[in-house]
Amino acid sequence: MSFTSTVRTMYQDQINGLKEAGLFKQERYIHAPQGADIEVEFPTGAQLKKVINMCANNYLGLSSHPEVIKAAHNGLDHRGYGMSSVRFICGTQDIHDELEKKVTEFLGTEATILFPSCMDANAGVFEAILTADDVMISDRLVHASIIDGMRLCAATHDTFKHANMEHLEEKLQLHADKRLKLIITDGVFSMDGDTPPLDKIVELAEKYGAMVFVDDSHASGFIGKTGRGTHEKYGVMGKIDIITTTFGKGLGGASGGCVSGRRELVEMCRQKARPYLFSNTIAPVIVAGVLRVLEILSESTERRDKLERNAEYWRKGLTEAGFILKEGDTPIVPVMLFNAKLSQDFSTDLYEKGIYAMGFFFPVVPKGQARIRTQLSAAHDIHHLDKALDAFIAVGKKHDILHKTKQEIIEKYGM
Ligand SMILES: *Cc1c(COP(=O)(O)O)cnc(C)c1O
Repeated sequence: MSFTSTVRTMYQDQINGLKEAGLFKQERYIHAPQGADIEVEFPTGAQLKKVINMCANNYLGLSSHPEVIKAAHNGLDHRGYGMSSVRFICGTQDIHDELEKKVTEFLGTEATILFPSCMDANAGVFEAILTADDVMISDRLVHASIIDGMRLCAATHDTFKHANMEHLEEKLQLHADKRLKLIITDGVFSMDGDTPPLDKIVELAEKYGAMVFVDDSHASGFIGKTGRGTHEKYGVMGKIDIITTTFGKGLGGASGGCVSGRRELVEMCRQKARPYLFSNTIAPVIVAGVLRVLEILSESTERRDKLERNAEYWRKGLTEAGFILKEGDTPIVPVMLFNAKLSQDFSTDLYEKGIYAMGFFFPVVPKGQARIRTQLSAAHDIHHLDKALDAFIAVGKKHDILHKTKQEIIEKYGM
């Protein structure tokens, strides 16, 4: 059927259905570089508004860091704008190889391969290393890109309950007959900000002869004493067989990702991973920027230390004010509101007060677990956090949810 008016109406109905269900994603325009203070325009015609950004993945405040911008300019001057090729034809420069070596060093692995994004890394890695004789056992809350990657792979797929080690062990026993077993988890789960016990996962992997895969996109650069990631936090550096991560979050926030880990697994990706073979090389300007980011982070832990202090300050402030938070120790701090509409109203009220933080509700999080997800950054100074705290408290009072139990909030607003 061609794109007739009937077909157009069919799609319009679907789009309207999203709007009616409150699931339509409306983008806002930022008229400034990414940072703690941004100028935002709601496309509804409202005026530009200066707000404090509490929802970026700019964990280390490097997205617009002068030294990173300078390094990127330098890359642009000396290696050009685009490569117009995939890596294996004529898309590999010396700096691509250099970045792969530097990421390997930073993560404490054996080898690394760059991908256009971590979405692409996850889409390509499983198919490149596993066959129908193997099994992928993934945490039930892994990132969408991992789910897509597993769909493209012929190996059997099974899941274990979120961060539940007894259930993982059962599944490892159940699949004892498989040739290869790969345990798959996020390092930090982005909706709740929690980290699975990687030390226990590695223990089980050793006990049952399985390999371990960790997506550290919300961890690389700041989790662990020197920011290497969740494997550092749990004392299992060198024991994770495959780490995937993004350069689009803490590590400068531009784009790009990688698979890092065992030398032979990385080589299999280079030979077989389709998003690597059939998608353009990462632009030199970004490679140069990420190289500088890794240098900055290797010279000093100042930025991840500041981020950690900010997160502690923020959690403490919100808790004392009487909010219910998801427990954790990462820079992702979910403020629980339970009711979907309340989370939207709360976000709108915060925006009016100059704080940009998004409400999340079903299907992004489970029903009855609506929340405002806040994310800290090393770009935040205490005055940002104090102002944001004042706004949260004022809006919390307006909706009468401070120092209330979960039950009381649900009774007042419903699930
Ligand atoms: C953001 C994210 C990705 C995607 O990273 P991109 O480089 O933006 O494609 C993959 N996995 C996880 C866990 C993420 O949080």
